[in-house]
Amino acid sequence: MARTLRFLAGIPVSELRGCGTKLEGRLHEMGILTVLDLLEHYPRRYLDRRKRALIAELALGEEATVIAEVTKVSGRRTRNRRALVEATVYDGASYLDVTFFNQAWRERQLQPGTEAAFFGKLDSYRGRRRMTNPVVDVFRRADDDDAGQLGAKTGVIVPVYPQSPKAQVDTWQIQRLVNEALERAKEFADPVTEPVLDAHDLVGRTGAYFGIHRPETDDEWKGATRRLVFDEFLRMQLGLVARKRALERDRLGIRHVVEGALVDNFHARLPFDLTGDQRSAIGEILADMAGPAPTHRLLQGDVGSGKTVVAVTALLAAVQGGHQGALMAPTAVLAEQHFLSISRMIDGLTVASEGTLMGDRPVRLELLTNRTTTTRRRQLEAELAQGLVDLVVGTHALLYGELPFASLGAVVVDEQHRFGVEQRALLRGRGEEPDVLVMTATPIPRTAAMLVYGDLDRSELREMPPGRIPIHTELASGDRSRSAAYDRLRHEVGEGRQGYVVCPLVEGSDKLEAKAATEEYERLSGAELADLRVGLLHGQMPARDKEAVMDAFRSGELDVLVATTVIEVGVDVPNATVMIVEDADRFGLAQLHQLRGRVGRGGGAAWCYLVAEPGTPEAEARMTAMVDSTDGFLLAERDLEIRGAGEVFGERQSGFSDLKLGRLPRDEPVVLETRAEAEAILDADPHLSHHRQLAEEVEDLLGDAVEFLFKS
Ligand code: ADP
Ligand code: MG
Repeated sequence: MARTLRFLAGIPVSELRGCGTKLEGRLHEMGILTVLDLLEHYPRRYLDRRKRALIAELALGEEATVIAEVTKVSGRRTRNRRALVEATVYDGASYLDVTFFNQAWRERQLQPGTEAAFFGKLDSYRGRRRMTNPVVDVFRRADDDDAGQLGAKTGVIVPVYPQSPKAQVDTWQIQRLVNEALERAKEFADPVTEPVLDAHDLVGRTGAYFGIHRPETDDEWKGATRRLVFDEFLRMQLGLVARKRALERDRLGIRHVVEGALVDNFHARLPFDLTGDQRSAIGEILADMAGPAPTHRLLQGDVGSGKTVVAVTALLAAVQGGHQGALMAPTAVLAEQHFLSISRMIDGLTVASEGTLMGDRPVRLELLTNRTTTTRRRQLEAELAQGLVDLVVGTHALLYGELPFASLGAVVVDEQHRFGVEQRALLRGRGEEPDVLVMTATPIPRTAAMLVYGDLDRSELREMPPGRIPIHTELASGDRSRSAAYDRLRHEVGEGRQGYVVCPLVEGSDKLEAKAATEEYERLSGAELADLRVGLLHGQMPARDKEAVMDAFRSGELDVLVATTVIEVGVDVPNATVMIVEDADRFGLAQLHQLRGRVGRGGGAAWCYLVAEPGTPEAEARMTAMVDSTDGFLLAERDLEIRGAGEVFGERQSGFSDLKLGRLPRDEPVVLETRAEAEAILDADPHLSHHRQLAEEVEDLLGDAVEFLFKS
């Protein structure tokens, strides 16, 4: 009988022959509990015996993988009590000495007759060729029953499994268990139909599992990998598309009146023309809002691309039809900022009022954060309940506070990459299913967004409002460049401008970071910034002090703000033209880009100095990317390339932690293919009633949360 993945997930790995309790314990440590876990423990790489380096042909100083058999091994202690293991290995033509320090257990591991790959740098010691502390992958054990000549039983292509130094499970042990599992499973049930496999030129599932673990050619493991990557993304996209459709199908939204005087007046009074992208985004959002299903849309746009106008349009469209709108920000500072700028934008706008005969009253906007007093909050709640307040801007308090809106019509969530999927979920299903627009300033490459936000529709602002001058960005390495940066800052202050100095990031401790920032502030005040008016802002300051400093900076009473990354989010002072980021190489690319977005908001020239001596190629790549580009989308793509998706979006972000083989941006085409395939499958079979096995796999991937999806 062909085996399903769920079936294999039900068999403990200990049921395999040759998996004793000791090995079982070690496998558990590696997260391998079931036969399926084992089969999804994919090789890290493959060695081709035909292409192996011969010991005799290696040059000194060269790094290489040598496949060889151990002929001799001995262990002892050096005079200073370090463990020393010396082995001699033979590749069929020549010998090589292999030396290990502080790894006494190697003596046991490398018994004569053991076959392994040794990866390291070739040196020479007393005229003999040697590798010291190489990486070792044992793929045939000395007392293996199958042992014969070199390479008799193992194939030409040798899979090498991820090592777990702590658990000490060798490649040969995994190989042997995997072989048994494959032989016992024999055939895998394939949930993907022939025509789909053919259309994407994919191998069947049985071929895939055998091919990835026991390939006879390179093409075989490559083809197997392609198929398994396809499966990973297909499951994920099926879950996301199904969730999106279930929400659209089962939930009733408000059919908003999107054509009307309020929205028209709002646009007519703006001191600028909307950009083309703003127009299309607004068109898409309003079309959603007019429809019967609740909107769940993502609005992506780089810092400064003008998302606020789009968001306010959506909120006013709700107000226009007699509903209310809410905007939620991740921090109180940001909420206040939004409150101020939206107040300005809607100043003078009126809405029909039921109470008065003539019918018009000003649109009313209120602010609600954790700083709002209880009395004030009570009052606001009463007014919200009566429909006297049209728009409310606030922090998460809005989300958790069970606010008694008279009729909440639209919610904008300003996510600023800090707002979790869970919180979005929490918002849904509150009250009468308002339309939800999630805004994010973290530009996410399209395909990555299909994973993280795959259950949302998307609008994008790529075009910047006209007249922006790219921020001049420089890497300041060395004292000279650093003092040039401070010269620029002083010069700009002399011209009546302002600037920021961002203090080094101290990871894992806000307290230490605050301390470092305070010291930096004191030092700079006595040195580089001696006769300027300097303020300090960090996350540990009492809210009241933070507010006072921000007010002083905004009103021009301070020239320079020395701050931690608390300024990253939403600080909007158009007069600030210089930013100096100390120890810039400690920051991530996305974070640097957000920070830089704090200057040059007034439209004139602006400068950003990255003070750093990047010590790793990765840090160097980040600095170069920042200097080369101010395009957030481009930087986001670079970031993905440099760090990989798991790092960029965090382990916990939905999707990425479930990818075992799939990788972005490499697999972008597969994301697109599987998205289309998932849609086609669900078009034809909305509850996957004819695709039970696929339904099972999606459920097993996403857990209980999605079980409802496929129950009709
Ligand atoms: P975001 O929230 O996307 O970072 P904002 O909405 O704060 O950007 O807009 C940044 C600045 O650009 C604001 O000062 C805003 O008034 C201005 N702005 C927005 N749209 C336009 C436009 N179409 N033309 C000119 N300026 C614009
Ligand atoms: Mg609607």
